Amino acid sequence: MNFKKSFKYLLKPKKVENTLFNQFSGAKRWIFNWGLDQRKQMWEKEKKRISLFDQNNELVHLKKGEDLAWLKEIHSQVLQQSLNDLDRAFVNFFNGLKKNIQIGYPKFKCKGMKDSFRYPQGVKVEEDKVWLPKIGWIKFKKTREIEGVIKQTTIIRERDNWYVVFSCEIEKDLPKVNIDPKKTVGIDLGLKYFANLAIGKDNHFVTIENPKYLRKALKKLQFLSKELSKKSKGGKNRYKARKKLSNLHCHLKNLRLDFFHKLALMIVKSHDIIGVEKMNIKAMMQGLKTLSRAISDAAWGMFLNCLKNKALEYGKNLYEVSSFLASTRKCSKCGEKNNIKLGQSRYFCECGQNIDRDLNAAINIKNLAVGASV
Ligand SMILES: [Zn+2]
Repeated sequence: MNFKKSFKYLLKPKKVENTLFNQFSGAKRWIFNWGLDQRKQMWEKEKKRISLFDQNNELVHLKKGEDLAWLKEIHSQVLQQSLNDLDRAFVNFFNGLKKNIQIGYPKFKCKGMKDSFRYPQGVKVEEDKVWLPKIGWIKFKKTREIEGVIKQTTIIRERDNWYVVFSCEIEKDLPKVNIDPKKTVGIDLGLKYFANLAIGKDNHFVTIENPKYLRKALKKLQFLSKELSKKSKGGKNRYKARKKLSNLHCHLKNLRLDFFHKLALMIVKSHDIIGVEKMNIKAMMQGLKTLSRAISDAAWGMFLNCLKNKALEYGKNLYEVSSFLASTRKCSKCGEKNNIKLGQSRYFCECGQNIDRDLNAAINIKNLAVGASV
C-alpha cells in the first residue's frame, strides 16, 4: 500500500540564494500570468482555446526572444509546472461549469501571495542539504528524517522565510487490526462546534471546539479581510494589507493542520469503526457565501483528508456516509423524519426522542457506519 506524506523544513539560504528564490518564484508567476493572458485574449478575440501542449511549445520560442532571455536562467521544469497549474485551473473551472459548481475563473497572480515554485524531479538530498537544479545546494533545518521516495519538491515562502516541502510516497504494509464492533464513533462536523462525536453503544456525546488560538486567528482574519477591501486598488497600502492577510492565512493553515493531526490521531486510536459525513462539495459551494462559511468548508475538507490518512495508517474502518441518508431531519431512535428549523438546538420526535440536534446527527452517522461494517 502506498501512502503520500509531506515533509517540510525551514531553508537556510544565503543572500544570493534568496535572490534566486525570488527570481524563480517571480518567473513562475510571470509565466502563469502570461499564459492566462494568452488564453483570455485568444478566447475573447477568436473564441479558441489553447492547449497545454501549445503553450509549452510557445514557451520554447518565448525564451529565444532577446528581451525575455532572463527566462533561460530559470529551470525549464519550474516554468512548465506553472503552465500545468494554469491548465489545471482551467480544467477545474470548465468541469465546474459542466457540473454547475461555482469555481472561479483563473485569476492573475500577484507578488507576495503564495510565492512558490516546484520541481517534479532532479532534486537530491544529502543529510541537511538539498540540491535544487539551477540553484545549487541549499542547507535546511532537518528536524526529522524524510521517509519514502521524493515525488515532488516545492519551495515556498511563508511570512519571510523559505521552506522546502518534499511530497513523498511511502510503501507500507497495512496493519492487521481485529476490529472491535463496540468501539464506534459517529462524527458530525458543524459550525457551532468543530465536531460533534457520538461514541459507542451508549451514544456518549462529546463536542470538540476549535481551540482558542484558532478562534482568535479567525477573528483577526475577518478583520484583515475587511481592511483589505477598504484599500484602493494598486496602492502600496493594499499591497501591505494583502501581505498581512496572506501571512495570517499561512499561519492559520499551520495551526489548523496541527490541531487536525492531533484530533484525528485521538479519534483513530480509540475507535475501530468511524463514521463521517461525506462532504457534499456542491451543496457547500452553493451554500452561504460568507467568509466564515468558506473557511469552515476548507477546514472540513482538510480534516477529512487527515482522518482518512490516519484511519488507513492504523488499519481502522472509516465509512463516509451520504448526507442524504444521514439527514439532520431523521430521528436516530425510530428513523422517522421530522422538520427541524435552522436555529433549533433540540431534536424532538413523536417516539419520545428529545435530544441535542448535533448528537442526533452524529448518532445517525455512527449507525450508518456500523450498518456498513457488517
Ligand atoms: Zn423518533
